[in-house]
Amino acid sequence: MTIWCLGSVNADHFYRLPHLPAPGETLAASDYSRGLGGKGANMAVAAARGGAPVELVGAVGPDGLWMKARLADYGVSVRHLAESAEASGHAIISVDAAGENQITIYGGANRALEPARIDTAFAEAREGDIFVCQNETNLQRAGADIARSRGLRVVYAAAPFEVEAVRKMLDVADLLVLNAVEARQLQEATGLAPEALPVAGIVITLGADGVRWIDTKTGQSRDFPAVAVTAVDTTGAGDTFTGYLLAGLDRGLSMEAAIPLAAKAAALKVTRRGTADAIPSLSEVETWAPPAHG
Ligand code: AMP
Repeated sequence: MTIWCLGSVNADHFYRLPHLPAPGETLAASDYSRGLGGKGANMAVAAARGGAPVELVGAVGPDGLWMKARLADYGVSVRHLAESAEASGHAIISVDAAGENQITIYGGANRALEPARIDTAFAEAREGDIFVCQNETNLQRAGADIARSRGLRVVYAAAPFEVEAVRKMLDVADLLVLNAVEARQLQEATGLAPEALPVAGIVITLGADGVRWIDTKTGQSRDFPAVAVTAVDTTGAGDTFTGYLLAGLDRGLSMEAAIPLAAKAAALKVTRRGTADAIPSLSEVETWAPPAHG
């Protein structure tokens, strides 16, 4: 079965600076690097590296063809990744000598998706496929509605958290994936504890404290530990977890089996610098023996 990921593709531009610029100041960066990011791309890469067939539905601009090529190298199908006239989504990430950062994000092509293209893409989706989206495009609700109508399971990662975007998605999601901060924001916004939300299942990721899975149908929750590691870079950990979780579910694993494998993949990712480019393959995850004491 196929995982359909409707989501963002961003170029992450990293600049190393002596200090963060003050208003009006011009500063020369001592170092520059570029990586593939965006929550849609990260989840799609993680699901593909985790062994699933993945279709990424989204768009890049004329400056984003390298990202399309890189996604394809990682095994993601980019047949439904449109080439838009808009600039690609991107993030300008400035990091100072102390590691403090400042980030500017521009949605660009991710926010200019055309409904007709979504219709065309999902005409190929089949019952039993999985749909996943996040909050970085202009069309997640429309995409989720089409996916639902075609019999797909709808998974929603409520990130980056935006109250109105999240509210719009709650009644269409089968499985909600949140981190601890997002879970608290959602509770504040709705006044409802996670177990009272109108979705069948909720997965809350808790960083180094692991994962909580709540089955709202039975009211039961279950905690899974994280794999103890020395974290080097936690960006993309949540996206790696979600992509691997879906890849596991896609090949028929139960939640009880898919969650620990996804947590292991995310733990291996946090030992590496980078986002999509640092997501490990399934064979790397399976053969990795985590350090005994983190
Ligand atoms: P987060 O989005 O920070 O909650 O991270 C998602 C998942 O990645 C967590 O549920 C863990 O399984 C894993 N993870 C994140 N940070 C760490 C860490 N410092 N050590 C081990 N696993 C981690």
